[in-house]
Amino acid sequence: MMDQSQSGMRTEGTMEKMDGKALSLHIESEIQSKVSQFTLKGLRAPKLVVLLVGDNPASVTYVRNKEKACLRVGFGSEVIRMSADVQTEDVLKVINQLNQDITVDGILVQLPIPKHLDVNRIIESLDPKKDVDGLHSINIAKLYANQEGFVPCTPRGIMTLLKHYEIEISGKHAVVIGRSALVGRPVAQLLLNENATVTVCHSKTRNLEKITQMADIVVVAIGQERFLKSNFITHADAIIDVGINRINDKLVGDVDYESLIDKVDYMTPVPGGVGPMTIVSLLENTLNAYELKLKEL
Ligand code: NDP
Repeated sequence: MMDQSQSGMRTEGTMEKMDGKALSLHIESEIQSKVSQFTLKGLRAPKLVVLLVGDNPASVTYVRNKEKACLRVGFGSEVIRMSADVQTEDVLKVINQLNQDITVDGILVQLPIPKHLDVNRIIESLDPKKDVDGLHSINIAKLYANQEGFVPCTPRGIMTLLKHYEIEISGKHAVVIGRSALVGRPVAQLLLNENATVTVCHSKTRNLEKITQMADIVVVAIGQERFLKSNFITHADAIIDVGINRINDKLVGDVDYESLIDKVDYMTPVPGGVGPMTIVSLLENTLNAYELKLKEL
């Protein structure tokens, strides 16, 4: 059990930090004990394979963090590194082998990949039952139809945080800034599936300030340091900062945290908010893929 400081109990009139780090560690410990139960029964542990094409420094760091997380919970983990000049057909061959390998539960292609590669063909070649990043069109369709499927990790992590802190979603006005396939669009759909009234904003949105001033829940995923400032908010129930901006070796979010403390009940910090929730959601998706396979045996 998490203690009270981790459980989302807020003192009236003060802002509560949404501690993604603590929550992710708690979920990791639950996953770890499930893995121990599987291995005690003589079953293998769940396994994730990550495909890393090229050596983009940010991707190398993200992949290393995913590998470390797998090891912490006792998952099998493999990183397949391919050179930046690899051809689409070569990537497809590797994915085909992984699709057929019954010891592999989850496959993740670390994005972005070099521009000459056909990213759509590569993602569509994944077995949707192993698509733990939730980017295959079958999983996207399931999300939009509000059916069970794999949900992209960052949006899943955001929903887990909102639920953990018991933030009411139904009937609330949620404003999502950013409309990427990885974050903005799926998180907007998840909020809609939970009966929020959702407004999706992007770089062409006019009068953004007026829209966010009417929001109960704001999710910012644009990649611009400290973009959301005090003037954007009247009073909000929750502000979720997805942004990761590296400024002089320091990580800074898309939200100007300090200026908003008095205007919001719950807010995620950067670092320690959505980032760790993204990684633990990947572990959850991989565990779900493994459990689905067990049911089918
Ligand atoms: P993308 O670059 O794919 O998308 C950015 C979105 O922001 C676009 O829809 C763009 O609009 C919109 N946008 C850009 N500028 C503005 C603006 N001034 N006003 C309104 N909308 C704007 O980014 P991602 O969604 O992949 O990532 C967003 C941020 O989240 C990045 O900092 C990224 O590093 C971080 N991130 C963090 C993760 C985590 O685990 N914490 C995971 C994934 C991403 P348009 O469509 O019109 O161009």
